[in-house]
Amino acid sequence: MDAKAREIYEIVERAVAGNGLPDEDIRTLYAVDPHSREAHHIHWAGNELSLKASDGKAEIHAQIGLNGTPCPKNCLFCSFALCNGVRKGKLEMPREYVIDFAQRYEEQGANAILILSTASYRFELFLEMAAAVRAVISPEMPLLANVEDMTLEQARQLKAAGVNGCYHAVRMGEGVVTTIPVETRLQTIANIHAAGLTLSTCVEPIGPEHTPEELTEKTRICIDATPLSAGCGRRVPVPGTALFSHGAISALHNALYVAVYRLASGLEPRLNCAAGTDLVASAGGNLAWAEVGANPRDTEQLTEKGGRGRDIAFYRELYTNADWEILEGPSPGWIL
Ligand code: SF4
Repeated sequence: MDAKAREIYEIVERAVAGNGLPDEDIRTLYAVDPHSREAHHIHWAGNELSLKASDGKAEIHAQIGLNGTPCPKNCLFCSFALCNGVRKGKLEMPREYVIDFAQRYEEQGANAILILSTASYRFELFLEMAAAVRAVISPEMPLLANVEDMTLEQARQLKAAGVNGCYHAVRMGEGVVTTIPVETRLQTIANIHAAGLTLSTCVEPIGPEHTPEELTEKTRICIDATPLSAGCGRRVPVPGTALFSHGAISALHNALYVAVYRLASGLEPRLNCAAGTDLVASAGGNLAWAEVGANPRDTEQLTEKGGRGRDIAFYRELYTNADWEILEGPSPGWIL
Protein backbone atom coordinates (compact mmCIF):
# COMPACT_ATOMS: atom_id res chain seq x y z
CA MET A 1 0.00 0.00 0.00
CA ASP A 2 1.43 3.41 -0.95
CA ALA A 3 1.53 6.41 1.37
CA LYS A 4 -1.56 8.05 -0.13
CA ALA A 5 -3.67 4.93 0.26
CA ARG A 6 -2.44 4.54 3.84
CA GLU A 7 -3.43 8.15 4.59
CA ILE A 8 -6.94 7.54 3.23
CA TYR A 9 -7.41 4.36 5.28
CA GLU A 10 -6.25 6.23 8.39
CA ILE A 11 -8.73 9.07 7.77
CA VAL A 12 -11.54 6.55 7.32
CA GLU A 13 -10.53 4.79 10.50
CA ARG A 14 -10.84 8.06 12.41
CA ALA A 15 -14.14 8.92 10.68
CA VAL A 16 -15.95 5.71 11.63
CA ALA A 17 -15.84 6.88 15.25
CA GLY A 18 -18.64 9.20 14.12
CA ASN A 19 -17.27 12.54 15.30
CA GLY A 20 -16.77 14.12 11.88
CA LEU A 21 -13.58 15.22 10.14
CA PRO A 22 -11.54 18.43 9.72
CA ASP A 23 -11.60 20.17 6.32
CA GLU A 24 -8.18 18.88 5.33
CA ASP A 25 -9.32 15.25 5.65
CA ILE A 26 -12.63 15.94 3.91
CA ARG A 27 -10.75 17.43 0.95
CA THR A 28 -8.51 14.37 0.74
CA LEU A 29 -11.51 12.01 0.66
CA TYR A 30 -13.37 14.03 -2.00
CA ALA A 31 -10.28 13.77 -4.22
CA VAL A 32 -10.20 9.94 -4.14
CA ASP A 33 -10.46 8.16 -7.51
CA PRO A 34 -14.04 6.78 -7.56
CA HIS A 35 -12.84 3.51 -9.14
CA SER A 36 -10.19 2.80 -6.55
CA ARG A 37 -10.08 0.28 -3.73
CA GLU A 38 -10.02 3.22 -1.30
CA ALA A 39 -13.26 4.58 -2.78
CA HIS A 40 -15.03 1.30 -2.10
CA HIS A 41 -13.68 1.28 1.43
CA ILE A 42 -15.21 4.78 1.84
CA HIS A 43 -18.55 3.44 0.49
CA TRP A 44 -18.47 0.74 3.17
CA ALA A 45 -17.60 3.21 5.93
CA GLY A 46 -20.31 5.68 4.86
CA ASN A 47 -22.88 2.91 4.91
CA GLU A 48 -21.75 1.69 8.34
CA LEU A 49 -22.06 5.15 9.84
CA SER A 50 -25.43 5.87 8.20
CA LEU A 51 -26.84 2.55 9.44
CA LYS A 52 -25.67 3.45 12.93
CA ALA A 53 -26.93 7.05 12.75
CA SER A 54 -30.42 6.01 11.68
CA ASP A 55 -30.84 2.67 13.45
CA GLY A 56 -30.88 1.05 10.01
CA LYS A 57 -33.91 2.98 8.75
CA ALA A 58 -34.06 4.80 5.43
CA GLU A 59 -36.71 7.37 4.56
CA ILE A 60 -38.70 8.51 1.56
CA HIS A 61 -39.84 12.12 1.52
CA ALA A 62 -42.38 13.15 -1.08
CA GLN A 63 -42.13 16.37 -3.10
CA ILE A 64 -44.89 18.27 -4.86
CA GLY A 65 -43.68 20.97 -7.27
CA LEU A 66 -46.26 23.77 -7.12
CA ASN A 67 -45.20 25.75 -10.19
CA GLY A 68 -42.98 25.73 -13.25
CA THR A 69 -43.28 29.32 -14.43
CA PRO A 70 -39.93 30.75 -15.65
CA CYS A 71 -37.93 32.00 -12.65
CA PRO A 72 -36.00 35.32 -12.69
CA LYS A 73 -33.20 34.02 -10.42
CA ASN A 74 -31.56 32.43 -13.46
CA CYS A 75 -29.60 29.54 -11.92
CA LEU A 76 -27.81 28.15 -14.97
CA PHE A 77 -28.47 24.48 -14.07
CA CYS A 78 -32.23 24.86 -13.63
CA SER A 79 -34.97 24.13 -16.16
CA PHE A 80 -37.07 26.91 -14.60
CA ALA A 81 -34.43 29.63 -15.12
CA LEU A 82 -35.79 32.36 -17.38
CA CYS A 83 -32.42 32.76 -19.12
CA ASN A 84 -32.33 29.08 -20.17
CA GLY A 85 -35.59 29.43 -22.11
CA VAL A 86 -36.61 25.82 -21.39
CA ARG A 87 -39.96 26.69 -19.81
CA LYS A 88 -42.59 28.92 -21.41
CA GLY A 89 -45.63 30.59 -19.88
CA LYS A 90 -47.35 30.25 -16.55
CA LEU A 91 -47.59 26.81 -14.97
CA GLU A 92 -49.22 26.43 -11.55
CA MET A 93 -50.67 23.26 -10.05
CA PRO A 94 -54.34 23.48 -9.04
CA ARG A 95 -55.06 23.25 -5.32
CA GLU A 96 -56.98 19.95 -5.80
CA TYR A 97 -53.95 18.37 -7.49
CA VAL A 98 -51.67 19.40 -4.60
CA ILE A 99 -54.05 18.23 -1.89
CA ASP A 100 -54.75 14.96 -3.68
CA PHE A 101 -51.04 14.09 -3.92
CA ALA A 102 -50.36 15.10 -0.31
CA GLN A 103 -53.09 12.72 0.88
CA ARG A 104 -52.00 9.95 -1.47
CA TYR A 105 -48.37 10.30 -0.41
CA GLU A 106 -49.24 9.93 3.26
CA GLU A 107 -51.42 6.87 2.51
CA GLN A 108 -48.55 5.35 0.52
CA GLY A 109 -46.14 5.71 3.45
CA ALA A 110 -44.16 8.89 2.75
CA ASN A 111 -42.22 9.91 5.86
CA ALA A 112 -42.53 13.67 5.15
CA ILE A 113 -44.21 15.92 2.57
CA LEU A 114 -42.29 18.72 0.83
CA ILE A 115 -43.85 21.47 -1.28
CA LEU A 116 -41.62 23.36 -3.70
CA SER A 117 -42.02 26.59 -5.63
CA THR A 118 -39.87 28.89 -7.75
CA ALA A 119 -39.16 32.56 -7.09
CA SER A 120 -41.94 33.44 -9.56
CA TYR A 121 -44.65 32.02 -7.24
CA ARG A 122 -46.54 34.44 -5.00
CA PHE A 123 -45.54 33.93 -1.37
CA GLU A 124 -49.14 34.48 -0.19
CA LEU A 125 -50.27 31.71 -2.53
CA PHE A 126 -47.56 29.44 -1.13
CA LEU A 127 -48.88 30.13 2.37
CA GLU A 128 -52.40 29.21 1.22
CA MET A 129 -51.16 25.98 -0.35
CA ALA A 130 -49.17 25.09 2.76
CA ALA A 131 -52.22 25.60 4.97
CA ALA A 132 -54.36 23.56 2.57
CA VAL A 133 -51.88 20.66 2.66
CA ARG A 134 -51.51 20.91 6.44
CA ALA A 135 -55.28 20.56 6.76
CA VAL A 136 -55.41 17.20 4.96
CA ILE A 137 -52.32 15.44 6.36
CA SER A 138 -52.00 14.15 9.91
CA PRO A 139 -50.57 16.50 12.58
CA GLU A 140 -47.56 14.17 13.05
CA MET A 141 -46.60 14.30 9.36
CA PRO A 142 -43.77 16.84 8.78
CA LEU A 143 -44.58 19.46 6.16
CA LEU A 144 -41.44 20.94 4.59
CA ALA A 145 -41.15 23.90 2.20
CA ASN A 146 -38.64 24.77 -0.50
CA VAL A 147 -39.08 28.45 -1.39
CA GLU A 148 -36.92 31.36 -2.48
CA ASP A 149 -34.88 33.36 0.02
CA MET A 150 -37.06 34.89 2.69
CA THR A 151 -37.13 37.31 5.58
CA LEU A 152 -37.57 36.27 9.19
CA GLU A 153 -41.14 37.53 9.02
CA GLN A 154 -41.85 35.30 6.00
CA ALA A 155 -40.27 32.32 7.76
CA ARG A 156 -42.59 32.97 10.72
CA GLN A 157 -45.55 33.15 8.33
CA LEU A 158 -44.59 29.75 6.92
CA LYS A 159 -44.52 28.32 10.40
CA ALA A 160 -47.91 29.86 11.20
CA ALA A 161 -49.32 28.26 8.03
CA GLY A 162 -48.32 24.82 9.35
CA VAL A 163 -44.89 24.32 7.80
CA ASN A 164 -42.40 22.53 10.08
CA GLY A 165 -39.12 22.79 8.17
CA CYS A 166 -37.47 24.11 5.02
CA TYR A 167 -35.09 22.84 2.39
CA HIS A 168 -32.48 25.53 1.71
CA ALA A 169 -28.93 25.29 0.38
CA VAL A 170 -25.93 27.32 -0.67
CA ARG A 171 -25.61 25.70 -4.07
CA MET A 172 -22.40 24.78 -5.90
CA GLY A 173 -21.21 27.89 -7.72
CA GLU A 174 -23.68 30.06 -5.81
CA GLY A 175 -23.29 33.68 -6.89
CA VAL A 176 -21.39 32.63 -10.04
CA VAL A 177 -23.78 30.28 -11.87
CA THR A 178 -26.72 31.84 -10.00
CA THR A 179 -27.66 35.48 -9.35
CA ILE A 180 -28.08 34.86 -5.62
CA PRO A 181 -25.27 35.94 -3.24
CA VAL A 182 -24.05 33.30 -0.78
CA GLU A 183 -24.83 35.74 2.08
CA THR A 184 -28.49 35.84 1.05
CA ARG A 185 -28.75 32.04 1.24
CA LEU A 186 -27.02 32.02 4.64
CA GLN A 187 -29.32 34.75 5.98
CA THR A 188 -32.36 32.71 4.93
CA ILE A 189 -30.96 29.66 6.73
CA ALA A 190 -30.52 31.83 9.84
CA ASN A 191 -34.12 33.05 9.44
CA ILE A 192 -35.38 29.46 9.14
CA HIS A 193 -33.78 28.58 12.46
CA ALA A 194 -34.87 31.84 14.13
CA ALA A 195 -38.48 31.17 13.15
CA GLY A 196 -38.40 27.76 14.85
CA LEU A 197 -38.34 25.77 11.61
CA THR A 198 -36.07 22.77 11.03
CA LEU A 199 -33.63 22.57 8.13
CA SER A 200 -32.88 20.16 5.30
CA THR A 201 -29.89 21.00 3.10
CA CYS A 202 -27.40 19.44 0.69
CA VAL A 203 -24.14 19.94 -1.24
CA GLU A 204 -25.68 20.32 -4.71
CA PRO A 205 -25.92 20.35 -7.67
CA ILE A 206 -22.51 18.69 -8.18
CA GLY A 207 -21.05 18.47 -11.68
CA PRO A 208 -17.78 17.09 -13.08
CA GLU A 209 -16.17 20.55 -12.96
CA HIS A 210 -16.41 20.88 -9.18
CA THR A 211 -13.23 20.63 -7.15
CA PRO A 212 -12.57 18.90 -3.80
CA GLU A 213 -11.99 22.42 -2.42
CA GLU A 214 -15.46 23.67 -3.29
CA LEU A 215 -17.05 20.39 -2.19
CA THR A 216 -15.30 20.78 1.16
CA GLU A 217 -16.30 24.43 1.52
CA LYS A 218 -19.99 23.62 0.85
CA THR A 219 -19.84 20.56 3.13
CA ARG A 220 -18.63 22.75 5.98
CA ILE A 221 -21.44 25.24 5.31
CA CYS A 222 -23.96 22.38 5.50
CA ILE A 223 -22.51 20.95 8.73
CA ASP A 224 -22.43 24.40 10.37
CA ALA A 225 -26.08 24.93 9.42
CA THR A 226 -27.10 22.05 11.78
CA PRO A 227 -29.60 20.39 9.44
CA LEU A 228 -31.76 17.31 10.02
CA SER A 229 -30.81 15.97 6.61
CA ALA A 230 -27.84 16.67 4.33
CA GLY A 231 -25.52 14.98 1.87
CA CYS A 232 -24.42 15.32 -1.74
CA GLY A 233 -26.58 15.53 -4.86
CA ARG A 234 -25.34 15.32 -8.42
CA ARG A 235 -26.49 17.75 -11.07
CA VAL A 236 -28.91 16.43 -13.66
CA PRO A 237 -27.87 17.86 -17.03
CA VAL A 238 -31.16 19.23 -18.34
CA PRO A 239 -31.20 19.70 -22.13
CA GLY A 240 -31.38 23.40 -23.01
CA THR A 241 -29.79 24.65 -19.79
CA ALA A 242 -26.51 26.58 -19.91
CA LEU A 243 -24.65 23.93 -17.88
CA PHE A 244 -25.93 20.95 -19.91
CA SER A 245 -22.65 20.70 -21.86
CA HIS A 246 -20.68 20.11 -18.64
CA GLY A 247 -22.32 16.68 -18.34
CA ALA A 248 -22.79 14.73 -15.14
CA ILE A 249 -20.80 12.76 -12.60
CA SER A 250 -21.52 9.03 -12.54
CA ALA A 251 -23.67 7.30 -9.92
CA LEU A 252 -20.44 5.66 -8.73
CA HIS A 253 -18.81 9.05 -8.18
CA ASN A 254 -21.95 10.35 -6.49
CA ALA A 255 -21.88 7.34 -4.14
CA LEU A 256 -18.34 8.27 -3.12
CA TYR A 257 -19.39 11.86 -2.42
CA VAL A 258 -22.42 10.82 -0.35
CA ALA A 259 -20.24 8.49 1.72
CA VAL A 260 -17.63 11.24 2.18
CA TYR A 261 -20.34 13.61 3.40
CA ARG A 262 -21.37 11.07 6.02
CA LEU A 263 -17.78 10.62 7.21
CA ALA A 264 -17.27 14.40 7.24
CA SER A 265 -20.41 15.01 9.25
CA GLY A 266 -20.27 12.04 11.63
CA LEU A 267 -23.37 10.50 13.22
CA GLU A 268 -25.43 13.68 12.77
CA PRO A 269 -27.70 14.20 10.97
CA ARG A 270 -29.63 10.94 10.85
CA LEU A 271 -30.51 11.37 7.17
CA ASN A 272 -27.93 11.36 4.39
CA CYS A 273 -29.13 12.37 0.92
CA ALA A 274 -29.67 11.79 -1.91
CA ALA A 275 -30.33 8.09 -2.40
CA GLY A 276 -31.28 8.37 -6.06
CA THR A 277 -29.67 5.04 -6.99
CA ASP A 278 -29.12 1.78 -5.12
CA LEU A 279 -25.37 2.39 -5.49
CA VAL A 280 -25.72 5.56 -3.42
CA ALA A 281 -28.04 3.83 -0.95
CA SER A 282 -25.40 1.14 -0.41
CA ALA A 283 -22.81 3.87 0.31
CA GLY A 284 -24.89 5.37 3.14
CA GLY A 285 -27.57 7.38 1.34
CA ASN A 286 -30.76 6.92 3.37
CA LEU A 287 -32.99 9.76 2.19
CA ALA A 288 -34.72 9.83 -1.19
CA TRP A 289 -37.43 12.03 -2.68
CA ALA A 290 -40.45 10.87 -4.65
CA GLU A 291 -41.54 13.70 -6.96
CA VAL A 292 -44.67 14.96 -8.68
CA GLY A 293 -45.62 18.28 -10.30
CA ALA A 294 -43.08 20.73 -11.66
CA ASN A 295 -39.45 19.67 -11.29
CA PRO A 296 -36.34 21.85 -11.88
CA ARG A 297 -34.44 18.78 -13.10
CA ASP A 298 -37.02 17.97 -15.75
CA THR A 299 -38.48 19.44 -18.92
CA GLU A 300 -41.86 17.70 -18.60
CA GLN A 301 -44.69 19.84 -17.23
CA LEU A 302 -45.59 17.07 -14.77
CA THR A 303 -42.52 15.10 -13.75
CA GLU A 304 -44.59 12.00 -12.91
CA LYS A 305 -45.94 11.86 -16.49
CA GLY A 306 -43.07 10.42 -18.46
CA GLY A 307 -40.40 12.55 -16.76
CA ARG A 308 -37.79 12.00 -14.05
CA GLY A 309 -40.18 11.83 -11.11
CA ARG A 310 -40.28 8.48 -9.33
CA ASP A 311 -42.94 7.24 -6.95
CA ILE A 312 -42.69 5.78 -3.47
CA ALA A 313 -42.83 2.20 -4.76
CA PHE A 314 -39.70 2.89 -6.84
CA TYR A 315 -37.72 3.97 -3.78
CA ARG A 316 -39.02 1.09 -1.69
CA GLU A 317 -37.56 -1.29 -4.24
CA LEU A 318 -34.31 0.71 -4.43
CA TYR A 319 -33.82 0.55 -0.66
CA THR A 320 -34.71 -3.13 -0.60
CA ASN A 321 -31.99 -3.76 -3.19
CA ALA A 322 -29.49 -1.97 -0.92
CA ASP A 323 -30.68 -3.93 2.16
CA TRP A 324 -32.13 -0.91 3.97
CA GLU A 325 -35.26 -1.11 6.08
CA ILE A 326 -37.70 1.75 5.53
CA LEU A 327 -39.04 3.83 8.40
CA GLU A 328 -42.78 3.35 9.01
CA GLY A 329 -44.74 6.55 9.72
CA PRO A 330 -43.77 10.22 10.02
CA SER A 331 -40.10 11.22 10.07
CA PRO A 332 -39.14 12.22 13.64
CA GLY A 333 -37.47 15.48 14.68
CA TRP A 334 -38.87 17.95 12.14
CA ILE A 335 -41.72 19.29 14.24
CA LEU A 336 -40.37 21.55 16.99
S1 SF4 B 1 -32.99 26.84 -8.85
FE1 SF4 B 1 -34.73 27.87 -7.83
S2 SF4 B 1 -34.13 30.03 -7.73
FE2 SF4 B 1 -32.79 29.09 -9.25
S3 SF4 B 1 -33.80 29.43 -11.26
FE3 SF4 B 1 -34.45 27.40 -10.47
S4 SF4 B 1 -36.37 27.80 -9.37
FE4 SF4 B 1 -35.33 29.79 -9.63
